[in-house]
Order: sequence, then structure tokens, then C-alpha cells
Amino acid sequence: MTLIELPEAVTIAGQIQKELKGKRISSGVRGSSPHKFAFTGKHSNDEFAAIVREKTIGVARANGSLILVDLDPGYVLSLGCGGEHILCHTSEKTLPQKHQLLLSFQDDTHLTVTVSGWGEVRLLEQSQVASHPHLKNNQISPLDDEFTFAYFRSLLNELPENKRVSAKYFIVSEPGILGVGNGCLQDILYRAKIHPKRQMTSLSNEEGEKLYQAIKRTLKEIVKLGGRDSERDLYNKKGGYQRILHSKVVGYPCRECGTPIKKIQYLGGASYFCPSCQAEQSLI
Ligand SMILES: [Zn+2]
Repeated sequence: MTLIELPEAVTIAGQIQKELKGKRISSGVRGSSPHKFAFTGKHSNDEFAAIVREKTIGVARANGSLILVDLDPGYVLSLGCGGEHILCHTSEKTLPQKHQLLLSFQDDTHLTVTVSGWGEVRLLEQSQVASHPHLKNNQISPLDDEFTFAYFRSLLNELPENKRVSAKYFIVSEPGILGVGNGCLQDILYRAKIHPKRQMTSLSNEEGEKLYQAIKRTLKEIVKLGGRDSERDLYNKKGGYQRILHSKVVGYPCRECGTPIKKIQYLGGASYFCPSCQAEQSLI
């Protein structure tokens, strides 16, 4: 499955815009294979089919790990935000047997979405987009110029002094860096040389700045390379960004210092780190 985080959402939204913009929908089938954790919004499957018919694919964009695709006129399809295969097809032969969404276009091409784990296949009216439950309008994307060090420092300064907030929690939960999940987190912390359990209030100014730079640089690099090598794009192609830390490097030497890479389970997911570069002894 493809776990969609910010770089994958940006990649796939860009591909949808390039490949599908202007195409007219001949039919839309949702829920051929009902899925408990697919967030579908308020429409029944029949209503969905009636609404999307004859609509035209418009602008596609990412917001965090969400992919928002305009269905002109008047509607928006919300995808992503979890584990999904979002694929385009030039023939019926490659259509998956199970899917939560099949859009067929008048030129006999198709788009399918298969949810694994959880994910969005939600239809919204344009006017409802602002109140989308997963849309984060109050957060600045780490890919934007407005994501400055001053902004990042303000997030740090807002942490209550007596509250223990770890680096992982700070980045993927609260306040959270828009669209960054446990996947992109690993290389960000490795590059910043910060342990996932490190208390954020104990970071020096220099470490704070290093973390800020690591967030920006890592995400920009992953976007540039079309996503992570563990995830797939609209054409079922793996991303070009080779992850530094992942399950297969556990026990192998760190590329910087040679110390074997460790794995821990922490906050509902695996964390990989170099115990030397990411200073385990800095944990208080
Ligand atoms: Zn190391």
C-alpha cells in the first residue's frame, strides 16, 4: 500500500492534474468493495454516482496528506490521508478487482482508488471544503516559503514548559508538521541528529534550527524525487527518494558513524535511529 504523506500527496496531485485535468467522467462507482475505514462523506453510493456523472476533472492540489480534486462544476473529491493506491489506467485490463472508487472517463481511461488501512474517498460540495474535517487551514506547509524559522520557533515556544513533548510527538501529532507522518519522520530526525524520544523543551537553539532545516530539506528532496521509494505514484511507479532509515537497515551500520541502527516501537509505530548520531544519552 502506499502510505500517503505530504510528498506523496504533492506528487500524486500533480500527476492527477497533468494526466486527468479536463477529462469528463462517464461513470463513477464507489463502494464496490465496502471498507470500514474509508471516509466517504454524506452521500450514498447511488447519490455519488449520480453527482459525478458528466463532471469534469479540474484542479488537483495537496493539503498536507490530503489530495483535493475539483469535479467541475461544484464538487471536490477528497483522497489520500492514509493508505491508498490511487492509480490511472489506460485500459480496463489493469483495473484492480477490489476498489473503493472507480471513475471512468469518456476517453475510456480510468482512475481507481483502493484503500488499505484507512483513507479518504470523500465527495464534498465546493462550499463544504472549508469545513473538511481533515483539512488543516491553520497550519503552514513545510514546503512553503512562509514556513520560516521564526514560525517554527513559535511552535516550539508555544510548548508549555512543564509538558514533556517528544520530537516524534511534536512532528507527527501536536502541534504537528503539516502532512508529516511516521514515514518521513525517520530521515528528518536522523538528519537533525535528534532521537525520536528527545524532549523538545531540552533542544538547544542550534538543535532547533537543525531540526527546522532537516524538515524543509528532507521534504523538498522527497517531493523533487517523486515520493519515497517505499510508496507508489499514479502510474504505480515507486518514488525516487531512497530512505536512509527503514526496517531493512536495522542492525546495519549507520552511514555516518558505523553504529548499528536500532528499532523501537514508540507512539504507535516503529522508530529507527542511530543510537550514536541521535544521542540516546541525551534523553532525560
Ligand atoms: Zn550514526
